[in-house]
Amino acid sequence: MKTQASPPDVYQDLRDAVRALCAQFPDSYHRQIDAERAYPEAFVDALTKAGWLAALIPAEYGGSGLGLAEASVIMEEINRSGANAGACHGQMYNMGTLLRHGSDAQKQLYLPKIASGQWRLQSMGVTEPTSGTDTTRIRTTAVKRGDRYLVNGQKVWISRIQHSDWMILLARTTALAEVKNKTEGMSIFMVDLREAEKSGMTVRPIANMVNHETNELFFENLEIPADNLIGQEGQGFRYILDGLNAERTLIAAECIGDGRWFIERVTKYASERVVFGRPIGQNQGVQFPIAEAYIEVEAADLMRFKACALFDAHEPCGAEANMAKYLAAKASWEAANACIQFHGGFGFAHEYDVERKFRETRLYQVAPISTNLILSYVAEHLLGLPRSF
Ligand SMILES: Cc1cc2nc3c(=O)[nH]c(=O)nc-3n(C[C@H](O)[C@H](O)[C@H](O)COP(=O)(O)OP(=O)(O)OC[C@H]3O[C@@H](n4cnc5c(N)ncnc54)[C@H](O)[C@@H]3O)c2cc1C
Repeated sequence: MKTQASPPDVYQDLRDAVRALCAQFPDSYHRQIDAERAYPEAFVDALTKAGWLAALIPAEYGGSGLGLAEASVIMEEINRSGANAGACHGQMYNMGTLLRHGSDAQKQLYLPKIASGQWRLQSMGVTEPTSGTDTTRIRTTAVKRGDRYLVNGQKVWISRIQHSDWMILLARTTALAEVKNKTEGMSIFMVDLREAEKSGMTVRPIANMVNHETNELFFENLEIPADNLIGQEGQGFRYILDGLNAERTLIAAECIGDGRWFIERVTKYASERVVFGRPIGQNQGVQFPIAEAYIEVEAADLMRFKACALFDAHEPCGAEANMAKYLAAKASWEAANACIQFHGGFGFAHEYDVERKFRETRLYQVAPISTNLILSYVAEHLLGLPRSF
C-alpha cells in the first residue's frame, strides 16, 4: 500500500527482490494450484533456486547467512504477494535444530545440500493424535538396537512429507514413567523419508480446509541409523523448543504479509465499489474495521521486529516471539474478516482469491501453536500466575 503510514523500510531492496520473483506467480497460478489441491512446485523451485529459503543457513554451509529479520521479510513478502509460505517455510527453519545441535559431521553432510535445495528438510514430526499439545506425552518410541534405533508409533498433521526428503522426528527414547522431569527422555532424529516409506513408515494424507499437504504417519519397526540422532539422547524436547522462537517469529511475519494483502485488497475494492450512489468505503461502518485491522497489523509488525532484533542479538526472545505470533495471527484474521465482509458476495467467489486467503490465514490461530497456549505461556511464564498444567 503506497501510503504515508507504510513508507519503504531498511529492507526495501530485499522486499523488491522477493516481490519481483513472486510477481512471476500471479493470483491465477495460486488459485489454480488451490483448486487442484496441487503443490506449488514451480513457485517453491524458484524460491529455492534464488536462495531465499536458505536465508538462515550460514555462508560457510552455502546459505546466505542472513538474520531472522531478513528471513521474516522474505516470508512476509511471500504471503503478501498472494502466495502461501506454508508450502515451503519448513525448509527455512527446520534446519535450525541441526545447526544448533547437530555434530560437525552432520552439519557438513546436511546443511550444504539443504542450502542448495538438493535435499529438502521440509518436515518436522512432533504432533500425535493422543497427546495433542501435551508433547511430553507422545507415545512414539525409538529403542536402540546396536547401531540402529527401532521406531514404533504414530504422528498426525505432519506437513510436506510428500515434498520433502528428510524429516526431523521427535520420539521417546526413555519412557515417561522412568524420567525425573517429563521433558526429558525424548530425542530427535533425521529420517530419510524415501527410505522410510520402503520399510516401516506408512503415509496417509489428510484432506483439509486449506491446500496444505499434511499427513498421518504410522511407524512399525522403522529402522533409523544411530548416526541420525541429533545431539544427545534424551534432550530432544529442549532442542525442539530452542527452534520455536524463530518459527513463531517467521509465522508472525507470514500473518503480517496476509494482513497487508487483505488490507490492500479491501481498501481498493471499497474505494471502487459503488452502492447507494457512493463508494462503500465512504461509509464509516466500512472504514473503521479496515482501519482497526491496519492498526493491529502495524502493532504486530513492531513486536515481530522486536523479536527479530533480540533473536539476531542472541538475546532471549521467547516472550516477544510468542506475542508477535499471537498479535499477528489475530491481526491477519481481523483483516481477513473485514476483507471478506466488504467484498460482499464477491468475497466468496474463487476468482477474487479472498476466500482462499481467508481459509489460509485462519490456520494460524491453531497451528503451529494455538492462541490459547500462547496466552497460557504469557500468564504463567511472564506474569507468574499459577501453572494450569
Ligand atoms: C494444517 C496443519 C498442519 C500442521 N503441521 C504440523 C507439522 O508439520 N508437524 C507437527 O508436528 N504438527 C503439525 N500440526 C499440528 C499442530 O501443531 C497442532 O494441531 C496444534 O499444535 C494444536 O494441537 P492439537 O491439534 O493436538 O490440539 P489440542 O492439543 O487437542 O487442543 C485443542 C484445542 O484445545 C485448546 N487447549 C488444549 N489444552 C488447553 C489448555 N490447557 N488451556 C486452554 N486451551 C487448551 C487448544 O488451544 C486447541 O485450540 C499441523 C496442524 C495443522 C492443522
